[in-house]
Amino acid sequence: MDKTITKAQIKAAVDEAYAESKGITGGHNADYIPFLANIDPNLFGISVTLLDGTTYSVGDTSYKFGIESVSKVLTAILVLKQHGADAVLKQIGADATGLPFNSIFAILLENDHPSTPLVNAGAITACSMVEPKGDSWGKWEAIINNIAALCGSEAQVLDELYRSESETNFNNRAIAWLLKNYNRIYDDVPMSLDLYTRQCSVGITAEQLAICAGTIANGGLNPVTKEQVFDKELAPKITTLISSVGFYQNTGDWLYTSGIPAKSGVGGGVLGVMPGVMGIAAFAPPLDEAGNSVKAQAAVKAVMKKLDLGVFNGDRVTVTD
Ligand code: GLN
Repeated sequence: MDKTITKAQIKAAVDEAYAESKGITGGHNADYIPFLANIDPNLFGISVTLLDGTTYSVGDTSYKFGIESVSKVLTAILVLKQHGADAVLKQIGADATGLPFNSIFAILLENDHPSTPLVNAGAITACSMVEPKGDSWGKWEAIINNIAALCGSEAQVLDELYRSESETNFNNRAIAWLLKNYNRIYDDVPMSLDLYTRQCSVGITAEQLAICAGTIANGGLNPVTKEQVFDKELAPKITTLISSVGFYQNTGDWLYTSGIPAKSGVGGGVLGVMPGVMGIAAFAPPLDEAGNSVKAQAAVKAVMKKLDLGVFNGDRVTVTD
């Protein structure tokens, strides 16, 4: 039950996972957001952040890609901080949808709440809950500052991605107004949708996402900046949300085969949280049919397998030098 792994083993696992996964083909860049269709599909990187702040990176881990749906995790944390776990459960929900990230059907099936902050509907609702209410600029500052605190460094919107996404987000507009119909948008509707679109358009690196994942794995204490970004008791709430819906309709298969709660984005990013041990992030643009990066999934799985780690393994894991 007690399991010790060394930092050298972790570094070797990351390097080997990168080498093995690099040649994997399959999948396609997201093309419903035109900007994403044109990103180099060969970009690939893996980063791991340990709880003492040590970060191992290999490949294109300084490349700024669209954070997309991984941002839902970060803003869920902000809303949990601002309103508490009970309010998030009541006003958004914490249920898996078992359906695609942009599902309107999921809203109709469960119109008493938008299921979870980690699908488009719940994430738009989450943006509507961000304080200060009614103040678009103040809300954006809260969102972007929270991203910086979790990732340990600042991040900016990729303007071209934001434009591309704003011009084509018709499905999300329908979601936002449908939610309004069910009294599940708690601020101005176009403002809430715009904040969601803007947060999805933030450029982020795999290294920043690994630090964010490490912060969640470390109970809200950023392992690099040493800032307590959120209360420890919120960490299991956020990891629960990630576990139940992080890969949308493929979440169960993912957790069953990988052993790590993880969240994907159509920019190609994956953020994985191994509580008490490490945060991991991988990035590669080509996606499977559910919108999850093919190569990033393979890479994260390979790291977990090489280290014989899994959230449900029942091991008390210690990392040593
Ligand atoms: N911005 C994208 C959307 O709303 C995010 C989707 C995703 O990454 N799964 O469709």
